[in-house]
Amino acid sequence: MADIVLNQLVKEYPGGVRAVDSLDLTIADGEFFALLGPSGCGKTTLLRSIAGLETVTGGSITIGGRDVTRLAPGDRDVAMVFQDYALFPHMTVRDNIAYPLRIKKVAKAERHAKADETAEGLSLGGLLERRPGQLSGGQQQRAALARAVACHPQVFLFDEPLSNLDARLRLEARTFLKRLQRDLGVTTVFVTHDQAEALAMSDRMAVMQAGRIRQIGTPKEVFQRPTSTFVAGFIGSTPMNLLDAAVDRDTVTVAGAVLPLPDSARGHVRDGEKVVFAARPEYLTLRAEPTAGGIEGVVAIVENMGVGALVSLDAGDDVIVQVTVPEGQEPEPGTRGWAVAAPERVLLYRAGDGELVGSAQPEPALTGS
Ligand code: ATP
Repeated sequence: MADIVLNQLVKEYPGGVRAVDSLDLTIADGEFFALLGPSGCGKTTLLRSIAGLETVTGGSITIGGRDVTRLAPGDRDVAMVFQDYALFPHMTVRDNIAYPLRIKKVAKAERHAKADETAEGLSLGGLLERRPGQLSGGQQQRAALARAVACHPQVFLFDEPLSNLDARLRLEARTFLKRLQRDLGVTTVFVTHDQAEALAMSDRMAVMQAGRIRQIGTPKEVFQRPTSTFVAGFIGSTPMNLLDAAVDRDTVTVAGAVLPLPDSARGHVRDGEKVVFAARPEYLTLRAEPTAGGIEGVVAIVENMGVGALVSLDAGDDVIVQVTVPEGQEPEPGTRGWAVAAPERVLLYRAGDGELVGSAQPEPALTGS
């Protein structure tokens, strides 16, 4: 068992920056867990704290039930892969992969055999005598992974390991890494600022802001039911529509359209309360005829997305509503349209603090701070 338990973890840098702020988090054995958030939210500091590369200022870290809070990195049984791979340029690929085993004083023949076997599994078999400078970016990334895999750690810690790859290779590496982690079953913490990467790869993910976790859940939960406008605005390849709205008894008025109040918001909002209406462009449909509950506007921009298009509808008063439309149904710019939300997909947030007040979906169990 190699679950990771963080209890009231704090990392305060000199000068008073709380990069990790009283954080509670449990990552299950064998789980692929993504840490996501904007630049400076504390993802890397949290990962480095688990690795032992930062000395925490408060709280505790256990791995597989063992308190590692004060242990040196080498005694934690974790392997970290960095964004820049951190391969030794003067060593061959074989020696790079075998390096952690050398530190552990594994005999030369055994560590070379282990390095060769791991390299073979990661399609690096023909490259063992090369130096990192003679490898492509993707090959360097695999060499860094092989080095992490060869020493059979209890935990993998990945700090944006795909961000130096070009878009195509990145997609391939994503699938490859996911499969590797699943085959090995090693508990993995993966830091990224790319929401698509976190959604695609993780079993569960946490969205961080200013040293704290704003939301934790499966990619589906976080995508479909962000619990704050902060998370709603951060997740999704097309930005969520977040529109000023007001509650009027059993209805919500948004950009001139009147919609039913979502069931789960009943009893949680006051008559006349200002709220934020939220719906993903993918959960809106565009009609060419006046439609009840539809937000009316003029098609301002049509962006080709390959399969389908993203339409920006200008609803007046500086309100833009975005809707995705299927291939072949792209409207002409300048024409009138009505954006209709699927009622079960509408979310309402408090105008004041941006917290979710209701949706028609059941509330998933949430843990974490
Ligand atoms: P990025 O995605 O840009 O790497 P991040 O989410 O990983 O960002 P961290 O690098 O963990 O964020 O930084 C968290 C906060 O701690 C930031 O405000 C940063 O300025 C601060 N910080 C990081 N390292 C130090 C340091 N050595 N001394 C002081 N402050 C630091």
